[in-house]
Amino acid sequence: MKYIGAHVSASGGVENAPLNADAIGANAFALFTKNQQQWRAAPLRQQSIDAFKANCQKLNFPPQSILPHDSYLINLGQPTSEGLEKSRKAFIDEMHRCHQLGLIYLNFHPGAHLKQISEQECLSRIAESINIAHHEVPEVTAVIENTAGQGSNVGFKFEHLAQIIEKVKDQSRVGVCLDTCHTFAAGYDLRTTEDCERTFAEFERIVGFKWLRGMHLNDSKSNFESRVDRHNSLGKGLLGENVFQYIMQDSRFDGIPLILETIEPTLWQQEIAWLRSITKN
Ligand SMILES: [Zn+2]
Ligand SMILES: [Zn+2]
Repeated sequence: MKYIGAHVSASGGVENAPLNADAIGANAFALFTKNQQQWRAAPLRQQSIDAFKANCQKLNFPPQSILPHDSYLINLGQPTSEGLEKSRKAFIDEMHRCHQLGLIYLNFHPGAHLKQISEQECLSRIAESINIAHHEVPEVTAVIENTAGQGSNVGFKFEHLAQIIEKVKDQSRVGVCLDTCHTFAAGYDLRTTEDCERTFAEFERIVGFKWLRGMHLNDSKSNFESRVDRHNSLGKGLLGENVFQYIMQDSRFDGIPLILETIEPTLWQQEIAWLRSITKN
């Protein structure tokens, strides 16, 4: 069973996200549970929480088909203690919001060292941030996304993901999300079937599919190994269609949210229908 969807708008309230997902033929979705460009957000209203749960139930979106994403402002590997504290607080709040909504995942970009601390120190801080969040909020799994490695972002090497997981105390609540555009831009090729075989075998060897909790399906405007994060619509970028065919036909990607973050929301319905049409049942 493939859960296929997109990162839909939650404008007007989180309860609108499942409606927006259903309208484009999705059986999965991602959302921000607050404005992703602001540090502070009003707490979720009970009315909104209840409506969100009712809509998910009615439209058949179980928690394992939903991949909430945190704010891009958060940097769990922040070099300064003041900045780190602020990010950790915001992350705990995001986790708490997920828990209130009955959700089981929180997807996030691991963090950036800002050239002020080493990569290793940054990875340790991220793991410690996850440990702190686990202590504060029950049940929600922290889902680390691989990055393109833009700027000083860590998480572009599979080893980074493995190193963070290794330092997390409650390993029942940590996982990873692979973004196809980021993977490619970070220097793991996915253009041909052989490239996919090799890259996912490397992922299995260094991290392991047992940690995979979601995928972001994006084509790439940026070049192979460019370390630049620029998404494109499926089949319109430098990745091409093959990798998506590969994923849709491979059972290792069953039962986890497969989320479009492609650049043309008007194409999402079409992209989802295409992905479904090439899915092996
Ligand atoms: Zn992504
Ligand atoms: Zn991206």
